[in-house]
Amino acid sequence: MSVLVVGSTALDSIATPNAKNPRLLGGSASHAGVAASFFSPVTVVGVVGDDFPQRYIQLYQKHGIDLTGLQRIPGKTFHWSGEYEIDMNNRRTLATELGVFADFSPKLPPACQKTPYVLLANIAPSLQAHVLDQMRRPKFVVADTMDLWLNIALADLLKLIRRVDALVLNDSEARQLTGDPNVISALGKIHKLGPRYVIVKKGEHGSILSGPSGLFVAPAYPLLKVVDPTGAGDSFVGGMMGYLASQKGSIEKNLRRGMVYGSVVASFCCAGFGLKHTTKVTRADIEKRFRQLEKITRF
Ligand code: AMP
Repeated sequence: MSVLVVGSTALDSIATPNAKNPRLLGGSASHAGVAASFFSPVTVVGVVGDDFPQRYIQLYQKHGIDLTGLQRIPGKTFHWSGEYEIDMNNRRTLATELGVFADFSPKLPPACQKTPYVLLANIAPSLQAHVLDQMRRPKFVVADTMDLWLNIALADLLKLIRRVDALVLNDSEARQLTGDPNVISALGKIHKLGPRYVIVKKGEHGSILSGPSGLFVAPAYPLLKVVDPTGAGDSFVGGMMGYLASQKGSIEKNLRRGMVYGSVVASFCCAGFGLKHTTKVTRADIEKRFRQLEKITRF
């Protein structure tokens, strides 16, 4: 089955201690959409300006991504720029220029409205809600978010959370949302806000799922070298959702395996700037790392 992904479609300027890369293809929907495309057909909903390079459109197309929900309008593409410290867990946002996203209010083509799996990748919660309003009886809805929206759009975010099946957020965001310093007890508090499934990302330490059958812990793939972690979280959730949409049977069982596939795609994302490495990967590469992860976590 297919996945609809809404989120940012961006140009990213990324600096690490070793290199600077301006105006790469980025954005939560780009990372999540490419990650999901390894497993299922994907439609991306977003907007780009007239400065968006045609080669990036071709990159989406190379991954078979349906672009009927991607608008191109006059103006500047969303631009994000960030800088990493030597410890790449520390990142500073230098600029977020919304450009054409500032007034974006997508009207989904009718064919997209029936997509069964919906991934509300990181973008303003009001925009995530606007897309959800237009969906017709989706089978499973996952929302991702970031600290910015907890800071400036908490009321919108809380309204959205009530309407989704699963919420994905990182550990510091889980603490901020609940005021609880303990992530495990924070999970219960987040369930009370609505979602049946809560997934907390812990970067290089993996992720935790809390669902009706209890807890599940997914490992991160142990990497010797991280080139650029931008988009790792989006790749994780995209890979997870793509896998989920490709499977029949128990959602919870598939979510668990999907989280491990998500970890694998995220590990490839970290091996290059932007989407450079992820877009070279094959499904066979993914399966190989999945089996390695199975091996190193079995006991
Ligand atoms: P991650 O490293 O998983 O946090 O995701 C980084 C991606 O999020 C980059 O490709 C950015 O373009 C995108 N991004 C950064 N800030 C925002 C924002 N405020 N809204 C939507 N996307 C954003």
